[in-house]
Amino acid sequence: MTEKIGVVGAGIVGLAVARELATARGAEVTVLEKEGRVGAHQTGHNSGVVHAGIYYPPGSLKARLCREGVALLKEYCAAHALPYEEVGKLVVASNRAERPRLAALAERARANGVPGVAELDALALREIEPHAVGVAAVHSPHTAICDFPAVARRLALDVAELGGSVRLGHPVRAMRERAGKVEVVAGRRRFAFDRLVVCAGLGTDAVARMAGAGGDVRIVPFRGEYYALRGAARDLVRGLIYPVPDPRYPFLGVHLTRRIGGGVLVGPNAVLATAYEGYRWSNFRNVRQILGWPGTLRMARAHWRTGVKEVYGSLAKSAFLMDARRYVPELTAADLERAPGGVRAQAVARDGGLVDDFVVDVRGKVVLVRNAPSPAATSSLAIARHIAGIVPALVR
Ligand SMILES: Cc1cc2nc3c(=O)[nH]c(=O)nc-3n(C[C@H](O)[C@H](O)[C@H](O)COP(=O)(O)OP(=O)(O)OC[C@H]3O[C@@H](n4cnc5c(N)ncnc54)[C@H](O)[C@@H]3O)c2cc1C
Repeated sequence: MTEKIGVVGAGIVGLAVARELATARGAEVTVLEKEGRVGAHQTGHNSGVVHAGIYYPPGSLKARLCREGVALLKEYCAAHALPYEEVGKLVVASNRAERPRLAALAERARANGVPGVAELDALALREIEPHAVGVAAVHSPHTAICDFPAVARRLALDVAELGGSVRLGHPVRAMRERAGKVEVVAGRRRFAFDRLVVCAGLGTDAVARMAGAGGDVRIVPFRGEYYALRGAARDLVRGLIYPVPDPRYPFLGVHLTRRIGGGVLVGPNAVLATAYEGYRWSNFRNVRQILGWPGTLRMARAHWRTGVKEVYGSLAKSAFLMDARRYVPELTAADLERAPGGVRAQAVARDGGLVDDFVVDVRGKVVLVRNAPSPAATSSLAIARHIAGIVPALVR
């Protein structure tokens, strides 16, 4: 009997999981996606950076699965003729006070096995990025960019070629365990699976509730807004220029990112959103659920200063520009135009702590991805292997 496994969500994580379960376990997989295309949310609205593993605490899932994920993704892109460019990253200290944190970052990168990491002084960093300024930098030459939506589309093709199906326009509305199966209502259809894996990103809490899984974390959406560089200003950036991150947050700070195809993005900031799919300020759809979670208010209380700064940056282009000019001072307001943003699904604990690592829970026959923020796109193929090892085996 072939094992039937359902996967909720056709983002890069859900699709990678489906492909892995079909190849490694020979399962018959069905991916249920509410939107009319794959990669419609986080997968299609991100910076497109293949992170090398610089930031994550050694020994964490993020550290391990990011390094494994980079190798798998590079190989996958090569095998399918998908774009993958090692443009390199500079993490730049803009003042002396940031130097100890920069040095700690270099140490962490080495502990995580990131190849080729070098510590540069103010002159050497300009050899890599001639228009950047700073007192010192860490250079990661193999940090890359890729087209995550294209990877997701290719993964969906793989799933189909392996005998599985990706059902678009199938929002999962209800589920229950009955007669040894997980019954799922999606759109107007009913499915019965032996196992179900939930990779629903911003929709995680709603699906977790259907599965009867409460738990002590909830998704809090953080909008990430971008500007794009216009015309010749794009030539001011060769690769990726990042600030030294604030260790209190999982977000990396406004950075300059070269894109596949030649564009350059500035961003993203991190603004608390009032809807899970809150791509705009005016969307208040889930304000009650989001503010009703005790962790949200505790987090807001602890980090209100940063929150106010992020809101200001969201409303005032000048604030955004100021952040970018710390690293590339030649930029002017005329060089920046608004670009589409994304919304991060970030798990927040009841005590207000931002959950740093990837989190995967198992509840009976249901495996729930509870936290898969950046670098989950980078790590997706490795997360898929990790999850395939967790999905409980069928006892025959
Ligand atoms: C602004 C921003 C910048 C980022 N930059 C990077 C980066 O440079 N590098 C990197 O590695 N990562 C980055 N990330 C993180 C990365 O994009 C995500 O970690 C990754 O895409 C998560 O993939 P996913 O499949 O879990 O989620 P998603 O892509 O969000 O997919 C979840 C899917 O589940 C579907 N769904 C939800 N509820 C239901 C339901 N009830 N029924 C059916 N379907 C449902 C949704 O429609 C969606 O398609 C960034 C994220 C953002 C937002």
